[in-house]
Amino acid sequence: MTEIDSADDESDEKGLLEERVKALEVDLRQKREIILAQHNKLEAFFDTSIDAVVQMDFDGYITGWNHQAEKIFGWRAEEILEQTITQTIIPERYRDAHEKGMKRFLESGKTTVINSLIEIHALHRDGHEFPIELSVSVIYSADLQEFNAYIRDISERKHAETVIWNQTNFDPLTSLPNRNLFLQKLEHEMRSCDRSNLSLALLYIDLDRFKDVNDSLSSGMGDLLLLEISSRLKQTIREIDTVSRLSGDEFTIILGQINDQLSVQPICQQILDALAEPYQLENEKVFLTASIGVTFYPGDGKKIEVLQRNGDQAMYVAKSEGRNRYHFFTPELQQRALRRRKMIKDLRAAMQQQQFEIYYQPIIDLQSGMLTKAEALLRWHHPESGLVSPSVFIPIAEESGLISEIGSWVFYTATEQVSTWREQFEIDFQVSINTSSLQWIDGAVAMSEWFSHLQQSGISGQSIAVEITESLLMDASDQITNRLLDFHDAGIEIAIDDFGTGYSSLSYLKQYDIDYLKIDQSFVRNLDHDQNDLALCEAIIVMAHKLGIKVVAEGVETDTQDQILKDFACDFAQGYFYSRPVPVRNFELLLADMPVKRISAAKKNMA
Ligand code: C2E
Ligand code: MG
Ligand code: MG
Repeated sequence: MTEIDSADDESDEKGLLEERVKALEVDLRQKREIILAQHNKLEAFFDTSIDAVVQMDFDGYITGWNHQAEKIFGWRAEEILEQTITQTIIPERYRDAHEKGMKRFLESGKTTVINSLIEIHALHRDGHEFPIELSVSVIYSADLQEFNAYIRDISERKHAETVIWNQTNFDPLTSLPNRNLFLQKLEHEMRSCDRSNLSLALLYIDLDRFKDVNDSLSSGMGDLLLLEISSRLKQTIREIDTVSRLSGDEFTIILGQINDQLSVQPICQQILDALAEPYQLENEKVFLTASIGVTFYPGDGKKIEVLQRNGDQAMYVAKSEGRNRYHFFTPELQQRALRRRKMIKDLRAAMQQQQFEIYYQPIIDLQSGMLTKAEALLRWHHPESGLVSPSVFIPIAEESGLISEIGSWVFYTATEQVSTWREQFEIDFQVSINTSSLQWIDGAVAMSEWFSHLQQSGISGQSIAVEITESLLMDASDQITNRLLDFHDAGIEIAIDDFGTGYSSLSYLKQYDIDYLKIDQSFVRNLDHDQNDLALCEAIIVMAHKLGIKVVAEGVETDTQDQILKDFACDFAQGYFYSRPVPVRNFELLLADMPVKRISAAKKNMA
């Protein structure tokens, strides 16, 4: 090879090399441009992300900080890059745990944070903490090892959650736990009794006659009263106990860690005393008492529903024994409750199995001595217990919601019966039908069907009277007032039963179109030897007549009573003196035997 040859070769090689270098440079430039473009794209992506994106190396130094991060943490990128997250966005109380977690991760690769969504608090530049939702991924490559944290400010969501939680768990007026939270707390306390082998006492507190008190107050005062009550309740108990408000005037207290049931007695008394102190509400002074039912877990029951029922029953007894007192749940109460439940079950069956019968008691026109009316009195032929008195089963029918169905059956049966008798005996006759207040309040639909039934069957309204109690008129709603007018329009008469035993206000008698007052038997019973009752009966009769109302005396048992009532010009009477309530067949014998008011031939022809 010549020298020239070798020099040529060298320059060729150099040229090739230069070309390759150039090509490489182009390649590199293109790649860098691609990377840059990708980087810019990523940057733009990061910056428009709705999450804050924070990148950080394995030493905890911040290497990336997007737009959203600036917004939620208050730091600009140039201020925070190269600082550690521990110094900046982690609240002081978490810093230790964070450092330890990092260390464990770097040593063992173990962590609970990576790739899971966690809720935690972060620190804003201005020093306030706020809740965030965070997920962290880790990037491993030969020359890049870093964490990417995606962070969302969840302050608003948390706030909304708190508002909703409060709404579902607290009574808005008193801020006491409501029924929902009460049940959770009770469950919780029951479990802690299981662990400690102690008991808890559950107190059911019901304010006495709260409705009446509330109605008598000027507006807004009822709320003030409830606030004062809840604060008195809170003051009487220990820190570990819970007062809740279940409904309008119903409160509960859970007394935890009880080892002696007797120790609950003074607490109950303290609560009663505290509540019975007069309430000064601005210019009004109010007096109020409460009744308390007490039951123990686990002694009286192991289930929440059982405890609730026990507490309620015991409270009910406290009320019926005169209010402003407490009553402990006892097994005897339990027996009573069981009997009640059985009776409800039997009552349901009674309708289907036709175990009801109506007895009729004569009502005598005192001036003419004629049998002109009868009261329909319901009887229940119980398959095991025999004849059950309405004073036993009517209250239970009322409590269990069966009264409407039973009441309608009585109405239909008794109206059919009076219509039959009127035709059969050709008499002007009326049947008086008892109604329970609940039929007027809850059974409005069933009652409204009575009118169409009467129209279809052609039974005259004049042959029917409906008995109501005084209490129904005391807080008569528009619905009740209108229904009374409906009866009136249908020609049906209205009688007030057991008059004199309820409220003493008489103003309602003028307000409504009342046809009869039935003087309660407790006044009639003593007519022959008690001057007070004598005066009372006379006064009732005189007053009723002044108002254009006729009077029926109930429970007449003696000749003397009958005579006195006649002297007082009482219009009608019923009682054992004339006849006990009897079944249809026996009543028909009375109709055949006694003087009755015949429908005159002229009237009959007209009809
Ligand atoms: P009430 O409407 O005051 O009926 C009068 C009650 O006194 C009846 O009791 C009757 O048998 C009784 N009685 C009548 N005369 C005398 C007497 O001279 N001396 C005595 N000691 N008692 C007499 P009963 O039949 O046991 O009914 C009790 C209550 O049950 C009734 O009192 C009424 O409030 C209710 N009741 C009866 N039937 C019905 C019904 O169909 N529906 C509703 N809602 N209640 C009814
Ligand atoms: Mg009656
Ligand atoms: Mg009565």
